Order: sequence, then C-alpha cells, then structure tokens
Amino acid sequence: MSMLCAVLATWFANCAPELPPEATQLTEAVMLRPVVEEAITLANRLLSVSNEPYKVTTSWSRDSRASDANEIVVYLMQSPASPAARAAQRNRTAEVLSAMQADQSGIDDGAFDCGELDDCIDQLYPEETVNLAMRTLNELTRWEVGKTRKECRCIVLIEHDLRMFELVFGADWDRYILLTRFAGFPGELEAAIKEGRLPEALTDGETVTLAAMLTLILLHEVGHSTSYSISSTETTMASGLDELIDDLHEERREELRADAFTGSVLRRACFDRRLVPAEENACLAAAELSMLTFIVGMKGKSREARCLRFLDTVPGYPNWQARFMTINLIQHPGPSSIGLLRDYVETRNSLVQLSWLSDVPVCSSALAN
Ligand SMILES: [Zn+2]
Repeated sequence: MSMLCAVLATWFANCAPELPPEATQLTEAVMLRPVVEEAITLANRLLSVSNEPYKVTTSWSRDSRASDANEIVVYLMQSPASPAARAAQRNRTAEVLSAMQADQSGIDDGAFDCGELDDCIDQLYPEETVNLAMRTLNELTRWEVGKTRKECRCIVLIEHDLRMFELVFGADWDRYILLTRFAGFPGELEAAIKEGRLPEALTDGETVTLAAMLTLILLHEVGHSTSYSISSTETTMASGLDELIDDLHEERREELRADAFTGSVLRRACFDRRLVPAEENACLAAAELSMLTFIVGMKGKSREARCLRFLDTVPGYPNWQARFMTINLIQHPGPSSIGLLRDYVETRNSLVQLSWLSDVPVCSSALAN
C-alpha cells in the first residue's frame, strides 16, 4: 500500500488495498470457482440476515481489489506444491479412507472401558490409518491458507486444500463408525436404528457439502475483521469456554474469537425463518462437523490420536475439536453443547497435567508444541 493511500484509507474507505502476495506468486485456480461462488452467496446472505455490514466478493468477478471497507475479496489459488505431489497426497488419503470404510472389524470388548487418560490407550487402535485421518483433519483446520490481512481485506484459498477438506470431511465416517461399533453384535444395529437409539445425524446418510464447509471458513475469515467479543456469560462459563480461552496464547485466542463470530452469525441467521436447502446445509454444517470429529475420535483412541484431539498441535491454531465445539456452542447454547465442551475441557486439562507429572511424555515433543 502506498504511503498516500495508507493515509487516505483512514478517511476514504474506497482506496484500493494491496494485492495479497499469493496473487502474484501463485497461479489462479479455476476448478472450484463454482463452489466458492456458491459459498460466497450463502455467506453473504447469512451475514445480511444477521445485520452484519460485511460483504464477500470474488477476485475474478471484479477488478480484484476491495473498494469498500466492509468488502472482503476472495482469491482462489493453486497450491505451490507440484501437480504430481498434490495428486499423490489426495490419492494416498483417498486410499486410506476407503480402506477404513471397508474395515468392519469391531471394537475389542476391553476397549469400551478404556478412558482417554488410561494407560490401556496404547493397546487400542494403534492403526496407522486412524492416525493419518486425524493428522489430515488437524492440518485442515488451519483455516487461513493465506492470512486475512487488514491491509489486504482479502481471503486467499488454496484449491488443493479445499479438495482435501472435501475428501476427509465428506467421507462416510458415520457409516464407518456405526459398522465398527456394532460389528460382532448381529441385529443390534438394526434394532438401535429402529428404536431411535442413534442420533439422526448418524443415520441420515448425509455428508457435509464443500460449499457448506466453505461458508463456515468464509464467516470465520470475516470474523477476523470484526470486533466481535466472546464475553463471559453463563453459557461460556458453564461450558468451560472461558477457561479454555484464558489458557490460550493470543493468536490462538483470536482464532477462537473468529470461530465464535461464525457461531454467532449462524445463531442469528439460522433460526426463526424459512431456509432454502443450501442455507440449511450451511446452518447444520458446524453441528455435523462437531459430531463427526467426535465420532472419529471414538475410533481414534491411540496415543497419537489422543494428542491430536486434545492438545493444540498446529502452531497458532486451537485444537480442531475445540473449534467445532465452540462454534456449535455459540450457535446453539443448550445442555448438550455445553456438556460436550465441558467434558472436552476437563479431559484436556487432565491430559495437560498428566504430561507435566509423567516421566514418559504423554505426547511426543513434535506434537505438543
Ligand atoms: Zn483465522
């Protein structure tokens, strides 16, 4: 940004901001533009219904610079990795996911009683497949592929990352978990479905669409541009969100604040009016992803998976499970979302204490950064 523009920008909101460095260093991507456009339409509608002044636009539908202080421009770029490396990563992940879904072996009887903090955890599911899925989930929760910089007023998305997001979160996890959970108990799954003992979200066969996931990502990015604050309320205290936030470093706290803004927009936009199906998908996405990460966690009871689930293993970002639970809590503050987050925070605190007391590190140092 030129000095003059920087000075003028404080008075004139229409001063054109700098392009993000990614726009000059990377190649533009086109394949997922239709999905990005769909998500932008959804995000804008949810923002408008919530009386938020922000508006998201695409770099390819205009002269690529935000003209208004409330306008945020989305750039869709190709990954700096080579096409061969990108394809290899996607193929490997797809292979692992399909192997997991074909695996119908049940959970060992002894496993039901093994808690998150017990030593028996090491004997459970040391499968590399689960750990790979957990690691991929963990990587994908770096929701800022390019930082949302104030001077840029833009969001940079990397197409390859979005495709990985779709691959992992679009996988049929619920079917997989149900099958492994009920393997060895003939007729039990059918009975549980018939008697309504399973949450509907587990049995409806729906997965979260990429457009719905992307809508959450866009709202999160917009959240960084707002002054939204997570103030202490009965809900945040009862759920443990207050103590979770207190424990975080500043940049992680900022990420959780942007997540909470997402939940707050969804709370204002998703109830008390008739929704079109695409809006409904976006409104349900956080709750469904929260539930999915929870049930993947039921299977992911290895030591590595436990660290990924409870500790902040991505520099600068809070744990993904905490993030989905936070959005879910702010969107729909009820006994179930409060209880789930409280349970998570308590287990996490115990795990942190355990890793301080234990001679053997609970997580490897590479993970617990
Ligand atoms: Zn962020």
